[in-house]
Amino acid sequence: MAGLESIDAPGDHAGHVVIVGAGLGGLRTAESLRRIGHTGPITLIGAEKHHPYDRPPLSKDVLRGDRPVVPLRQLGSYAELDLDLRLGVTAVSVNTEGKSVALDDGSDVGYDALVVATGAVPRQLPIFSQASNVHVLRTLDDADRLRGELVEGNRLAVIGAGFIGCEAAASARAMGVEVVLIELLPAPLSRVLGTQVGEQIAALHASHGVDVRTATSVTEAKGTSRIERLVLSDGSEVAVDVVLVGLGVTPSTEWLVGSGIELGNGVHCDSGGRTSAAGVYAVGDLACWEHPISGAKTRTEHWTSAVEQAEVVAHNIISDSSGPSSAEGRDHAAVPYVWSDQYDLKIQVVGYPSPDDDVQLLTVGKFNRTLALYSREGKFTAAVGMSTAAAVMKLRALLQGAQDGSATLEDAIALVTPAPPAS
Ligand SMILES: Cc1cc2nc3c(=O)[nH]c(=O)nc-3n(C[C@H](O)[C@H](O)[C@H](O)COP(=O)(O)OP(=O)(O)OC[C@H]3O[C@@H](n4cnc5c(N)ncnc54)[C@H](O)[C@@H]3O)c2cc1C
Repeated sequence: MAGLESIDAPGDHAGHVVIVGAGLGGLRTAESLRRIGHTGPITLIGAEKHHPYDRPPLSKDVLRGDRPVVPLRQLGSYAELDLDLRLGVTAVSVNTEGKSVALDDGSDVGYDALVVATGAVPRQLPIFSQASNVHVLRTLDDADRLRGELVEGNRLAVIGAGFIGCEAAASARAMGVEVVLIELLPAPLSRVLGTQVGEQIAALHASHGVDVRTATSVTEAKGTSRIERLVLSDGSEVAVDVVLVGLGVTPSTEWLVGSGIELGNGVHCDSGGRTSAAGVYAVGDLACWEHPISGAKTRTEHWTSAVEQAEVVAHNIISDSSGPSSAEGRDHAAVPYVWSDQYDLKIQVVGYPSPDDDVQLLTVGKFNRTLALYSREGKFTAAVGMSTAAAVMKLRALLQGAQDGSATLEDAIALVTPAPPAS
């Protein structure tokens, strides 16, 4: 193939590892590979021009302007990873038979193992077309652009009260911006956490001066180069200076279409991150991994999962290429965990909450913080805590140790409720 750069790595079974996507999952895979002793070449390809940075602060301190960026690794320490780091370059296709990736600069990179870590892109609302005051929030450049419009006294409409919409709303309030939070469902975050907890989050935002509009959607946007008013399905109109669309993301898999890699809800993987193509792995927001015990296929858009999957994949790249005598491959069986900072609360979610679960609300700790326990037919499934870190971590351990579903709601309650004093 013209321009193909193939790197021979005698003595290193895993050979040349190419990682596409220089975000959290991609960088952590490279770091794990080096940590466990991979000495062969690693190429890390990223579409953004920035060195890898952390995304969670983009809706929190970076959006508020408290910090310019949070790097995932200090610039001075890249040399020790010995990477061929290609920033500002996009992978456009992959040839899984010839084992090469085509880049938008016209070159091809051959691989022995390929890690797909291209994350996800925010959904847009077509009715906004090219309006200059309509934003999404995924990248550092997005956060910089949005911050430029979050001027005290301005009115921000956040469309979609998921994690990122809610966090951006909280950050904007801290900046003195008027906020209207618009959600199609009956309560913020209720698609994931159900209505009971969602209503608590609605009350939290309302108590900080957010105009929370639920069970309604945007039907029309008025304005030309900038949106000035939104018409909602309940017939009301909202004047706006700036709009944030927070309607979730879709996995960045376009460049894999036609490659033979099985796609569906992202990139389908076994419980060790292997895709349907030999030598190709996937980690992070786009990766839909099979659970080693339940067999369920889940795509998790959380920071912790990307880090854990990266470590499993690095290990499996080495063990898969080392032949039958090698150490066994690893599975990823960790219980999902996500946190969200809104105002002075750290909301933490562990497990697999479903809006259909039964929810029991407890108050725990000396500040009487809310802890929601989720269960299905008496089986404990998930917990959501509002600044109740110690309790949430105990419950995560309970779920982790009972992945066959054997933990009950009573077990969970007993774990977080102090025993009555002995009489
Ligand atoms: C604003 C925001 C706040 C968040 N807050 C939290 C939080 O509080 N808690 C939590 O648990 N999680 C949070 N997350 C989620 C967490 O950041 C993600 O789960 C994590 O970043 C996923 O890592 P990733 O490597 O899969 O994808 P990403 O970090 O998105 O990295 C993918 C990279 O691949 C690049 N890329 C895409 N296509 C190509 C291509 N064809 N060629 C080359 N490069 C490509 C992209 O430009 C990107 O840099 C937040 C996310 C965002 C956006």
